[in-house]
Amino acid sequence: MEVDVAVIGSGPAGLTAAIHARGSGARSVVLLEREEELGGILKQCIHNGFGLEQFKQDYTGPEYAERLIQDLEETDVQCFLNTLVTDLSPDRVITALSPEHGAIEISAGSIVLGMGCRERARGSIGIPGTRPAGIFTAGVAQRFVNIDGYLPGRRIVILGSGDIGLMMARRLTLEGARVIGVYEIMGYPSGLKRNIVQCLDDFDIPLHLSHTATGITGKERVEGVTISKVDSDLRAVKGTEQLITCDTLLLSVGLIPENELSQQAGVEISAATKGPVSTETMATSVPGVYTCGNVATVFDIVDHVAQTGATAGASAARYVGGRLNGDVPHVDIVPGENVRLLFPHRYSFQGDLLLFIRAAEPVEKPVTVEVSPPGSRITRPYARPNEMLRVRIPGAKLAEVRHPLKVSIREK
Ligand SMILES: Cc1cc2nc3c(=O)[nH]c(=O)nc-3n(C[C@H](O)[C@H](O)[C@H](O)COP(=O)(O)OP(=O)(O)OC[C@H]3O[C@@H](n4cnc5c(N)ncnc54)[C@H](O)[C@@H]3O)c2cc1C
Repeated sequence: MEVDVAVIGSGPAGLTAAIHARGSGARSVVLLEREEELGGILKQCIHNGFGLEQFKQDYTGPEYAERLIQDLEETDVQCFLNTLVTDLSPDRVITALSPEHGAIEISAGSIVLGMGCRERARGSIGIPGTRPAGIFTAGVAQRFVNIDGYLPGRRIVILGSGDIGLMMARRLTLEGARVIGVYEIMGYPSGLKRNIVQCLDDFDIPLHLSHTATGITGKERVEGVTISKVDSDLRAVKGTEQLITCDTLLLSVGLIPENELSQQAGVEISAATKGPVSTETMATSVPGVYTCGNVATVFDIVDHVAQTGATAGASAARYVGGRLNGDVPHVDIVPGENVRLLFPHRYSFQGDLLLFIRAAEPVEKPVTVEVSPPGSRITRPYARPNEMLRVRIPGAKLAEVRHPLKVSIREK
């Protein structure tokens, strides 16, 4: 099968990319999704707060997905559900498997990667102790409660203050479980401020910063978790251990972009964002391969995920129509003072630069975000590692730039 654009993954990023690819002139677009339904992770996010920026509406995750799916259904984009992409070659040949079609080979003029991210599990943080039942990632617990109708436990400790863990603290409380506390190794929360307030403070669930789990006890089922304070080097402080009796430990300790396919295609991966090195058009290092959403970098809110999907879809259509070159000059975008990560990583002179910036350390007073050259200075009321800053720099300001763009966050 030959198509103009193939999109892998039907979360908000992939759905938006497919709609925009077709809307921007691609003649044939396919969307490949390994699950039975479109929508990605949104299907299990039944709380509200989605689409405030994009649609000026307060949707639940499934409502937000439905709105995109309705837009998709007005196009002739062909969707392959239950279809797992297993291989992706640098010359844009996709191999996928599905019970209905068997093995499929698709040769695409351009490709959009929209595979999302997965959660870090116990193995990636190495908590010592026994290996009983009752340890879940927050997203798995979310699926159990919101889709399958199971309560994963009754006395729950949450490790890490990522947004999914915060959501689950509230959700499990509403379902009658007791959430004893959320324990975060850093000195500041990793989830959004609004989620700390609405999911913890409103339900009197304590958040303990600078704490981590240093042990798990229980043979068949979790019986307790040992919690310790950490020092400024994030090492557990001896003598501060406390054993908390519980039957469940939820982990909300970070997300990892799913880039195994990207790597197969030879796409360069950024050590900072763990996603493809990308330009402002969402181009990866492989001509004709674009990226968007959480496979590109882990965004805070779905509106930003969709925004990158729109750009990637339009770029993929322009590439296949010969209106966007896959090998154009670019300058790197590099982190300066108090910047932990940046997205995109390169500017390729194709229009405005929409820059997502994550601070390294919190600054609770007005800051200046400086992009130099061209010497743009933008003021923001604060900078927090858990809330990406977003700045747009007009393309006209960048036209003469020949050196890497350095981005810094300074107190005003
Ligand atoms: C477990 C979990 C829970 C989350 N809960 C929340 C929440 O409550 N609130 C919130 O604001 N954000 C939540 N997020 C963040 C959420 O991921 C983003 O807001 C948004 O869904 C990201 O959109 P996406 O399109 O990039 O990825 P996703 O929504 O993850 O979609 C990616 C899609 O790609 C498909 N896919 C991946 N690999 C392949 C392949 N090889 N072949 C075919 N299909 C493939 C997947 O099945 C999936 O449908 C959660 C994330 C995770 C991982």
